Amino acid sequence: RPRNLQGYAPICLGLEDFYIRRLYHRIQDCFGRPICSPPDAWFDVVERVSNDNNKTLKRTTKVSRCLNLGSYNYLGFAASDEYCTPRVIESLKKFSASTCSARVDGGTTSIHTELEECVANFVGKPAAIVTGMGYVTNSAILPVLIGKGGLIISDSLNHNSIVNGARGSGATIRVFQHNTPSHLEKVLREHIAEGQPRTHRPWKKIVVIVEGIYSMEGELCQLPEIVAICKKYKAYVYLDEAHSIGAVGKTGRGVCELLGVDTADVDIMMGTFTKSFGSCGGYIAGSKELIEFLKYTCPAHLYATSISPPAAQQIISAIKVILGEDGSSRGAQKLARIRENSNFFRSELQKMGFEVLGDNDSPVMPIMLYNPAKIPAFSRECLKQNVAVVIVGFPATPLLLARARICISAAHSREDLNKALEVISRVGDLVGIKYFPAEPKKQ
Ligand code: PMP
Repeated sequence: RPRNLQGYAPICLGLEDFYIRRLYHRIQDCFGRPICSPPDAWFDVVERVSNDNNKTLKRTTKVSRCLNLGSYNYLGFAASDEYCTPRVIESLKKFSASTCSARVDGGTTSIHTELEECVANFVGKPAAIVTGMGYVTNSAILPVLIGKGGLIISDSLNHNSIVNGARGSGATIRVFQHNTPSHLEKVLREHIAEGQPRTHRPWKKIVVIVEGIYSMEGELCQLPEIVAICKKYKAYVYLDEAHSIGAVGKTGRGVCELLGVDTADVDIMMGTFTKSFGSCGGYIAGSKELIEFLKYTCPAHLYATSISPPAAQQIISAIKVILGEDGSSRGAQKLARIRENSNFFRSELQKMGFEVLGDNDSPVMPIMLYNPAKIPAFSRECLKQNVAVVIVGFPATPLLLARARICISAAHSREDLNKALEVISRVGDLVGIKYFPAEPKKQ
């Protein structure tokens, strides 16, 4: 992966066609005019999702129902839910699909204020601000938090929204080796002296940006070590919990809860609602002063239409279910289920001889394919057997580090997972990606 903060490129099913089209557009862009007609490629269109996390894909030629191992629907809320859905419908009737206004221009409903309180309370911070899109939360808020004269030290595998936010801020950007606290410390030492007071530094601010779970690696952040280093060098910690909030931790409160980090030591907590909560939008949670500052200065708050009320209601309801405030134990069951499912699937894949990246408890598990030529074969063969898997290759990864990225959900049943394992095992043999000897099966 290029070290110049390249970030991840889009990924999709039917990747071979995606790459052909992308290449076509790149070539056309170079020549400044069309040089041939576009290739006849297809993209999968999801016709509908069902409660069991299956999805129906419509291609140009046929419609098929697939087991969905590709979506971030970690807790299974991205489907109709007995607690959330009636409340979402109610809010749609009451407030409509859009406020058609920015937050400060009449786009703040009672649902918006409730959501911000609910999120702050859930993540363990005094206050929170929400936006209509997770990507924008990073890309629009980072430039408000830090600017020229500031120093951003970013993990080399941070998401593209962070990369764009960092670039847009005008701050000096340095990159540290992925999830390597010792290298972070080295980079910090190159830029400031240990113990130097904030006021005597050549930098207005120093912000270290990391993710809770890295979406292409499935790894948990080395947060305790990183927080300790940031304290030592008086740098702010910015934590993107897009993939960890709701998905890990005893009560779903993310990596701080899982790894025993005090949320008071993480200055800026960012997350998205598009994964565990089955909705859309993003948040920043922090001190009351920080959030107040953002509410008065952030363009995404001042000039963008506020998050859709039904989407906001979905998040509030999902959090209530997670916390058991709906009066049931479904939230706790979902959390137990995603952990069990993830750990079961990861260990079964490893027993079969696949090289699987990431840590225990992480619902994200990349299976290494390495050779980019194996990308289309793997994706097509899985899809033929009605298992939809996301495949990632260059430029999202270095050329020879192609992988299939499995996302596990609490909505997957053991039967679903066993079926998926059977298919992946068969396809793995066919494509030749079992790099380790398989463990003999217990009788
Ligand atoms: N941060 C990270 C780490 C992500 O992986 C993503 C997208 N998956 C985003 C931010 C952007 O979030 P959204 O898709 O909700 O806009």
